[in-house]
Amino acid sequence: DNVDRYAVMGNPIAHSKSPQIHRMFAEQTGQALRYDALLVPEDGFAEAVTNFLYRNDGKGLNVTVPFKQQAWELADRLSERAEPAGAVNTLMFRDGTLYGDNTDGAGLVRDLTRNHGVELKDKRILMLGAGGAARGVMLPLLEQQPASLHIANRTVLRARELVERFEEFGDLSASGFDAIHGNFDVIINATAAGLGGEVPPLPDNVIDKHTLCYDMMYSSEPTAFVRHCIEHNAAKALDGLGMLVEQAAESFRLWRGVMPDTLPVIEALRNS
Ligand code: NDP
Repeated sequence: DNVDRYAVMGNPIAHSKSPQIHRMFAEQTGQALRYDALLVPEDGFAEAVTNFLYRNDGKGLNVTVPFKQQAWELADRLSERAEPAGAVNTLMFRDGTLYGDNTDGAGLVRDLTRNHGVELKDKRILMLGAGGAARGVMLPLLEQQPASLHIANRTVLRARELVERFEEFGDLSASGFDAIHGNFDVIINATAAGLGGEVPPLPDNVIDKHTLCYDMMYSSEPTAFVRHCIEHNAAKALDGLGMLVEQAAESFRLWRGVMPDTLPVIEALRNS
């Protein structure tokens, strides 16, 4: 077949929802394209990208765990938001150049502000975690001009490194979980603790009835963090399904020049 080809590369990849999401986008916008999930061996990422782009005439790729950093290194050119993120989740092949972008932050901000009406300007934000996901969303979050952004991480040094990297863009601070002081308007969980059903050990007064909690993780059942926030009487607790669909939409827009309508896709995934 002659349709443009796209794919997501990761390891593992079997549970990825990206093919389903992009097929819904394609159908909705009347675009003819093919989108596959490709399992790539841990040491075979660069080769897999080259094969896909040259041999299969691929047009673009999504990249997920554990290859986002390698994708950043592999790209010939980086977007302004991907450069400081140190991670790339979207690759595009144009005029012989491999272009790398990161749409995770735009996806998070869009889900919060547009889908859930959460204003971030002048708000006090607490980010839990300092890994790839936290780093990837830092610049788009700070562009919303929050009053402050505190990063708490199990390994405090990594939180401090993030602060150093982004301190020119806002009022940033760092600590371990036990040394978080005060309360926050918005708390974003970007740790991988939820994969093991755990919640970062937060001091009791950090969540109050005004707090909006956002878990980057998602699952068919409420996540451990969402449950924890509801038990601590947070105003609202959201999971990361909306972010997943929004980052995909932003990739789709970059590749195809059309922004899909995300709400029906989020709705369809929520019900499936
Ligand atoms: P990384 O491995 O890069 O970072 C993991 C982070 O979690 C680190 O800050 C690590 O702390 C912390 N952590 C791990 N285990 C625990 C624990 N038991 N208790 C407390 N902290 C812990 O992973 P990523 O940043 O790539 O991914 C993080 C999460 O974000 C994943 O759950 C992923 O699914 C989700 N995500 C969701 C997206 C979406 O579209 N919804 C997009 C991208 C990511 P330390 O530094 O001390 O090791």
